[in-house]
Amino acid sequence: MNAEVLPWAARTKGLVGSIIDSSTSLLQRQTHDIVSFAMGSPAAEAVPSEDFSEIYSSVLANNGAGVFAYGATEGETALRDELLAYLETTPERTSAERLLITSGGMQGLDLAGKLFVDPGDLVIVEAPTYTNGSATLLAYGADIVEAPIDDDGLIVETLPELVQKAGRRPKAIYVIPNFQNPTGTAMSLKRRLLLLALAREWRSIIIDDDPYGMLRFDGRHIPGFRELGGGDPLVFSVRTFSKILAPGLRVGWVDADPAIVEKLIDAKQTMDTCTNVPNQLLSAEFLRRGGLEPHLDRLRREYQKRMRAMQTSLENHFSGVATWTHPQGGFFLWLTFGDNVDTSKLFDVAVQNGVAFIPGRAFSVTGQFGNALRLCFASQTPERTELGISRLAEALKAL
Ligand code: PMP
Repeated sequence: MNAEVLPWAARTKGLVGSIIDSSTSLLQRQTHDIVSFAMGSPAAEAVPSEDFSEIYSSVLANNGAGVFAYGATEGETALRDELLAYLETTPERTSAERLLITSGGMQGLDLAGKLFVDPGDLVIVEAPTYTNGSATLLAYGADIVEAPIDDDGLIVETLPELVQKAGRRPKAIYVIPNFQNPTGTAMSLKRRLLLLALAREWRSIIIDDDPYGMLRFDGRHIPGFRELGGGDPLVFSVRTFSKILAPGLRVGWVDADPAIVEKLIDAKQTMDTCTNVPNQLLSAEFLRRGGLEPHLDRLRREYQKRMRAMQTSLENHFSGVATWTHPQGGFFLWLTFGDNVDTSKLFDVAVQNGVAFIPGRAFSVTGQFGNALRLCFASQTPERTELGISRLAEALKAL
């Protein structure tokens, strides 16, 4: 059937999908061995699956049929209470009326778009940025302006000029302050403070997307927007268990002003009624048993080891050929070649050669960064990383 005759909504023009997510099915279809640095997945061995199966059994035994009933839109009380208690031990302490449990971080981003972005609204994003984040904003019709980043994160100093050029204030500014996806860099304190000041001047929402902040393995904590904002309603914080527990759970949360949370509940009710109840109860019980902090400690040590292994492999195979970032936490680093290398072309050769990454263009709505690529160092052991990086070097030679 000819799809053009269908009565599409105008907004489908803004639905661009995600090259990152599409790469999952592309790679699953391959039958040869591939070292994948593509998806931002926790290491398979970093997911406490044995604990999870035991906890699932006890959750089923103790909650009866209630496990399979509809839950409250704001989230299961057990999870809300445990999460609040856990956050109390971190710089992200918050209160019940500010909390909404979501179906992963993606739903938090979607809700931000739904509440604050009308078609044609100016939204500033980092360049490069997380593809699904910009895709979500585009789906709500955002007019996206990209602002550059460097080793200290978003170059906030460039924003006034970009805003002046655009001739209107931004409705929202989308940032990933810690171990940014895709570059792995963190925004400096000075720039966080400046961004907060500008957002207050422009009355812009800061979409503070921080899935990786709890995974700092080097350097010192930098206060986040949640801390610096002191409860400012302009700070909309999106969080998730995907990177610290498991992405398949699809459980995350939003921390926002109580007036915003009321609207978020209305908005979530038209999306999915409530977040998956069994997975909320599983997460709650994991937290109740005190499992999260020791688990995070293990993850930090393991990811530090894996990041260092990747740095060593890159030095072995790419010295003088490319430059790359040196993240102090999170999952990703960013590799940049000379202008003569097209990483979208390199991708095809690399997959044949048994290694995968995400090409740089995926992270820019204007198709910048054709000579860069994102590597996830978290999913592979040091041995597999060395194999994968050596295959990448061969692929580059073949290209
Ligand atoms: N924001 C960023 C920066 C991410 O890297 C991710 C996951 N790749 C998400 C949001 C989405 O998280 P979730 O899988 O919980 O929806």
